[in-house]
Amino acid sequence: MLRQVNGHSSGSDAQGRASLKGDLQEFLGGEAQLHQVDDLTKVNPVTLETVLRCLQARYTEDIFYTNAGCTLVALNPFKPIPQLYAAELMQEYHAAPQPQTLKPHIFTVGEQTYRNVQSLIEPVNQSIVVSGESGAGKTWTSRCLMKFYAVVAAPPASCESHKIAERIEQRILNSNPVMEAFGNACTLRNNNSSRFGKFIQLQLNRAQQMTGAAVQTYLLEKTRVARQASSERNFHIFYQICKGATKDERLQWYLPEGAAFSWLPNPENSLEEDCFELTREAMLHLGIDTPTQNNIFKVLAGLLHLGNVHFADSEDEAQPCQLMDGTKVSVRTSASLLQLSEDMLLETMQIRTIKAGKQQQVFRKPCSRAECDTRRDCLAKLIYARLFDWLVSVINSSICADSSSWTAFIGLLDVYGFESFPDNSLEQLCINYANEKLQQHFVAHYLRAQQEEYAVEGLEWSFVNYQDNQTCLDLLEGSPISICSLINEECRLNRPSSAAQLQTRIESALAGQPRLGHSKLSREPSFVVLHFAGPVRYHTEGLVEKNKDPVPPELTGLLQQSQDPLLMMLFPANPEEKTQEEPSGQSRAPALTVVSKFKASLEQLLQVLHSTTPHYIRCIKPNSQNQPQTFLQEEVLSQLEACGLVETIHISAAGFPIRVSHQNFVERYKLLRRLRPHTSSGLCSAKGPTEQPLCAKEATLQPLLQDILHALPAVIETARTPGDPA
Ligand code: ADP
Ligand code: MG
Repeated sequence: MLRQVNGHSSGSDAQGRASLKGDLQEFLGGEAQLHQVDDLTKVNPVTLETVLRCLQARYTEDIFYTNAGCTLVALNPFKPIPQLYAAELMQEYHAAPQPQTLKPHIFTVGEQTYRNVQSLIEPVNQSIVVSGESGAGKTWTSRCLMKFYAVVAAPPASCESHKIAERIEQRILNSNPVMEAFGNACTLRNNNSSRFGKFIQLQLNRAQQMTGAAVQTYLLEKTRVARQASSERNFHIFYQICKGATKDERLQWYLPEGAAFSWLPNPENSLEEDCFELTREAMLHLGIDTPTQNNIFKVLAGLLHLGNVHFADSEDEAQPCQLMDGTKVSVRTSASLLQLSEDMLLETMQIRTIKAGKQQQVFRKPCSRAECDTRRDCLAKLIYARLFDWLVSVINSSICADSSSWTAFIGLLDVYGFESFPDNSLEQLCINYANEKLQQHFVAHYLRAQQEEYAVEGLEWSFVNYQDNQTCLDLLEGSPISICSLINEECRLNRPSSAAQLQTRIESALAGQPRLGHSKLSREPSFVVLHFAGPVRYHTEGLVEKNKDPVPPELTGLLQQSQDPLLMMLFPANPEEKTQEEPSGQSRAPALTVVSKFKASLEQLLQVLHSTTPHYIRCIKPNSQNQPQTFLQEEVLSQLEACGLVETIHISAAGFPIRVSHQNFVERYKLLRRLRPHTSSGLCSAKGPTEQPLCAKEATLQPLLQDILHALPAVIETARTPGDPA
């Protein structure tokens, strides 16, 4: 049962939260001021309940951002608040001597990150990890941060390069509508759900001006192009074309008004995201000219017609499946739009060719109806995925600065949040695996690092128990045996195994692993992983096949024969590809599975993240109906629990906000050695000036910085004196 704002607790909740009233009486003198608490570390005591009430009080007052120590909590308002993202406000945060003293905002994070890049103390690349479940506001947040940097990191108007830079910023911003048109879709949870992960590096020069950007995407959900869950939609771009094409274009692309397409479900609900004009304009800015755009849309129309091709069961196994009545015209239209031979297109879907024997004899085997469907879908996925990758590469070549013109970057990570549906498969396994990795990165960086460092420093500290998810990662990716390795093994051995067999193999090989749940309750073969965000049941049916993601060589071969300029570029008739068609029996490297490719790209991402100073924004969805003014305690609570926010606050509350390594500190301030020694406490670790890192409370750093500023002219003077012993 969900509870509304001011709702009463149900029985079991009441028990669990019995202490709430008592806690809150202590809490800053009462309920009336709750909304004024802008940092959750100031809540006393810090419990899930007090944090929840504080967030709710703020939400009721239309305050959506709250600090939680090293993290910013962002509640999704589910309503437009233009003044909250106005350019003037960006400038205000940018110009503030201490932005952290202003109201909590993503601009505070943006500005601090920006300042850190060329901080006097330790210049280093930065990253902002935006996390949260689907619909919580991650993409919105990263888009706003990009706009923020486009404003604050713009060169001054007088600067000669201003015009070029302006173009760059505009192009970087234009990458959003294009990538969203092709990579986002309306799902049950979010009308504009990103179906891919994105890491964007904003590149800055020495003068802190944005000179370019680079985008890396992860795991596009390409199955969506040919299969959409009920009440969900295909990628926005298909609806944009169908709704926004001109009369002429409709004729060219065979898209008569009101035509029905199997792969275009729920076209009637009109979304803000259906704006074709916006996509076209953004593409143009990115250097994709109108003829190329039209080519892209023509190919996409070809896919829609391909989706209307349906096969009937064949009565004679030796004969290919026939087309269902009335769908021959769809084959013809699709072939015409994709500039393929109609017969070859049909035959490729109907008949499998197998090369065997020393002579490379070709055998032709008619496919079953299900196989024909799979091959049709595979063709569409193949085209769409290549098109998406190509678009990303075009965007990159349009926005990426050459390496000599930037010196540091700010990375923005917007990846799909934790997912748990009634039916979870390989996609969810990958997504949740990524979230476990990111959670570990977070834990490692802020929680573990801080606690361990305090222990080494001998600082007094009451340790809290943080939730380490290493055991879950061991289950997912550990060696020698893990869920990933077992699924990959099935692909490598290429043995026919049923869903039930896979379940048994996983459960017996990994028995006793603490994060493997009980799958007994389900009738369908499955296994359960106890993720940090909650248990998820993964169905094993089709898992291995999805992981193999096989592309029959005949399909690539067909597309290589297309006369369409775009398809010719996406599928060049490259003789090297032939190696994929080598007969079985000859040794060749096994094809990379989806899981292993994903794992590799994830590891690369984490390496980049580890090389930066991370900042975290936790987006929270106040209700799953995407309604404004609705704060459902149960739903928020489970998200707070899932991200271990209370532990984070405990540690942040007691922690030192500034940490500088001893070596860097000495390097930076050695000139000050001859100044009067600083008398206030702090600035030394408990062990004194050894090679250990130093910890300094911000409060004690302030007077020192003032001293430095006052002493600076004298120091510079001294430094200029030849023979200075300092
Ligand atoms: P996610 O990327 O986490 O899945 P989105 O960023 O797409 O979620 O947000 C989902 C929807 O919530 C957006 O389409 C928008 O309508 C709304 N939304 C999110 N953040 C805000 C915000 N700060 N102000 C207004 N609306 C927002
Ligand atoms: Mg998103």
